[in-house]
Amino acid sequence: MVEDPICDFCSSSEVRWLYPAQSFSGTLIGIGDHEVKTQEFNSIGGWAACNVCHDLIELQDIEGLITRALELHSVPRSQMNTLRSAMRDYHSTFWETKGVPEAFVG
Ligand SMILES: [Zn+2]
Repeated sequence: MVEDPICDFCSSSEVRWLYPAQSFSGTLIGIGDHEVKTQEFNSIGGWAACNVCHDLIELQDIEGLITRALELHSVPRSQMNTLRSAMRDYHSTFWETKGVPEAFVG
């Protein structure tokens, strides 16, 4: 059984778009209740996006996209700057390699 996809930007389960992008591996930032955790990951093929993130991507609003993700995860104020720069790194491969998005039919 295939797991339901989530938005690769804000973790919403309302995936509506798939962006072709280069496969890569890196460190994923996860936010626990009391601490920031990191985890190695591989992204094969495309990036999934919800409607809101898709709109921000099409506007090239990189900071807006990061702000949305951080706000949805209730990031502690003390962790904001660290996470913001980590997410810029995390997204950089996407911005460098993204193609034209296709509507996702779940
Ligand atoms: Zn999203």
